[in-house]
Amino acid sequence: MPHSLNSVSRRRFLGQLSAAAALVLAPRRVRALDTPPTKKLGVALLGLGSYSTHELGPALRATEHCHLTGVVTGSPAKGKEWARKYGFPKKNIFAYDTMAQMAGNPDIDIVYVVTPNGVHAENCIAAAKAGKHVICEKPMANSVADCDAMIAACREAGVRLTVGYRLHYEPHHAELARLAREKVFGPFMRMDGANGFTMDSEARANTLWRLNKKLAGGGPLMDMGVYVVQAVCMAKVEAAPIAVTATFGPVTRPDVFSEVEESVKWTMEYADGAKATCLATYGESVSRFRAEADHGWAQLEEPAFYYDEPMLTTSQGKVHLPKVNHQVAQLDGMALELLAGRPSIAPGEMGRRDVAIVEAIYAAARSGQRVEVRA
Ligand code: NAD
Repeated sequence: MPHSLNSVSRRRFLGQLSAAAALVLAPRRVRALDTPPTKKLGVALLGLGSYSTHELGPALRATEHCHLTGVVTGSPAKGKEWARKYGFPKKNIFAYDTMAQMAGNPDIDIVYVVTPNGVHAENCIAAAKAGKHVICEKPMANSVADCDAMIAACREAGVRLTVGYRLHYEPHHAELARLAREKVFGPFMRMDGANGFTMDSEARANTLWRLNKKLAGGGPLMDMGVYVVQAVCMAKVEAAPIAVTATFGPVTRPDVFSEVEESVKWTMEYADGAKATCLATYGESVSRFRAEADHGWAQLEEPAFYYDEPMLTTSQGKVHLPKVNHQVAQLDGMALELLAGRPSIAPGEMGRRDVAIVEAIYAAARSGQRVEVRA
């Protein structure tokens, strides 16, 4: 998700920055561990664009269980600047084609892939071959075939593959998952979600790859819709839908949306009769999710998926949970999972499931047919 650049989103972005700054200054919270951590894991960020610069780099200053120890970048000058700013040695600056040399480097335990979607697979596979655990940004890849190759490479190398699904580590979204798992209101049967931002000229200039089919894999469905797919699956206790239907929205700006969709609406249909109606768009700023069961409901208020503190309301009232920086919570959560030898709550298989759902949605939108999901 890029920083949306209309005025509402700009305010949100500034809010995010101050929230991040507040967290850096706040007393650190330590989660309960099965076994005490023996070390801080070293993370190398691969791809030093917007998300690494504004969110992940700063978050890695505030994390308890991991820290930034290196980078992979196409720009040696940028690498040196990051090394100076974050205080790691120049030997920990790698280029995309020198990643194999990382193999003997004990400072780096995890490579965090933060490049355009279309290069996630080659970047993740290179990191696995260097013997490093991998966190891959969402969406995991442009195709299920690429996801399979990534999972196989990590398995072969004996390293862990997780997806940068920060909201699994965010308390309000985790509470939604608990409500679903424990069937507090009964199983969620009716869901509605939407996520998008206005792809205006400033946003376009900052993020041209998002409009490029090869690099992005698609339009707002790949970028923003994945959050809605995630929320629906979370509300269905991580089950995949059995089938989807979908329609592309009108193309109002053909000069901008020549390769990828401008918006798409879809439905997800579950084996127990549950149904979700969903929207992903580059035409408006929207971010909401609601799930209804026979004995109550839960709603993530606007903005449901941005970096702000989500607000969760249920049929029993407003839910009060701690405010966290999403990226700090995710990075520490994943580091603790590794240090404690626990399985991840956002594994590569989950990223693959979501890409399979996305592929079915595109197939349904192209054909106008109901498409069964093989996740
Ligand atoms: P960006 O354009 O700001 O940065 C991408 C970086 O990748 C740039 O530094 C660019 O130089 C580098 N790069 C490496 N190989 C490249 C290639 N072949 N072509 C083009 N650029 C290449 O993008 P971003 O907003 O930082 O997004 C990067 C990834 O992070 C995307 O997968 C995106 O979906 C994800 N993301 C996730 C979140 C979240 O909340 N989880 C938020 C923003 C972005």
